Amino acid sequence: GKQAGRGSVVPFDPDMLGEERHRRFVERELRAALLMDELELHYQPVVGARDGQVVSHEALLRWRHQVRGMIAPNSFIPVAEQSSLIDRLGEWVLRQACLDQPRLGTPVGVNVSPVQLRRQDFVARFTSILEDTATNPALIIVEVTENAPLAKGSVEMDNLARLRAIGVRVAIDDFGAGHASLHYLRDFVFDIIKIDRTYVADYAVNPVNAMVVAAVCDIARSLRLDVIAEGVETEEQRRQLASAGCTGLQGYLLGRPEPLVRRHTAEAA
Ligand code: C2E
Ligand code: MG
Ligand code: MG
Ligand code: MG
Repeated sequence: GKQAGRGSVVPFDPDMLGEERHRRFVERELRAALLMDELELHYQPVVGARDGQVVSHEALLRWRHQVRGMIAPNSFIPVAEQSSLIDRLGEWVLRQACLDQPRLGTPVGVNVSPVQLRRQDFVARFTSILEDTATNPALIIVEVTENAPLAKGSVEMDNLARLRAIGVRVAIDDFGAGHASLHYLRDFVFDIIKIDRTYVADYAVNPVNAMVVAAVCDIARSLRLDVIAEGVETEEQRRQLASAGCTGLQGYLLGRPEPLVRRHTAEAA
């Protein structure tokens, strides 16, 4: 940043300065959080649409702030994405998820930022964490959300292909909400499609949503991809999504994100 002495640089837009200050404040706190052990993962189950059996768990990052309490990822991931902090955060998440996997007893889904995916050394760092923690790559699912279309031949596409070559499964997250393109399906970039919860939310109200979901399921079935519906909250949604052909379901109806300890105890009881 600029070492602007008092009065030496007049900000063009005071609002922008406020935003930048806020960003740097959060970034500084987040760096400390990494050191002070304030981050934790909560796990939410994904269940089979037919039998309700837990097929995997998704790791969702939480920041237990000393003063502000529990902070959701959407309010700090974007800040981390502005610097290399996102890489350290992502590596912390992967390592912790790998360490927790044996106790979860299922494959575990890890969200990866598009910023991480752009790094040339992403797969090398990823692989070394799997090795360090003696984790079978087949037990890891990488979930990618897009903020820009993934071009053929890009670093991102190359990294995804390399992950899949070592046996990691790759899911496209929030499908239908971003830039997802049909060539992703045609070119077999992903193993799993996670349908964005906005399609699920007004499923009953808007019949077009139901048709879109059913069509995605049809394509997925012929390509042998899994389809997981996100944000399932009602019994009716569960029933409709299962009959539309979703293979997996995730949402508060099936289980909320919870710390491993609590989830483990609840299941044992
Ligand atoms: P996502 O990967 O699409 O995760 C699903 C989000 O929906 C989670 O929010 C989850 O708590 C919430 N959710 C699950 N079931 C329901 C439901 O039935 N109804 C509703 N209304 N919401 C439901 P969360 O944990 O706040 O995470 C938000 C986003 O932050 C995630 O969306 C993901 O994109 C990102 N994120 C979370 N953890 C990480 C991480 O470790 N690294 C990165 N890069 N991003 C992460
Ligand atoms: Mg996700
Ligand atoms: Mg999602
Ligand atoms: Mg999301």
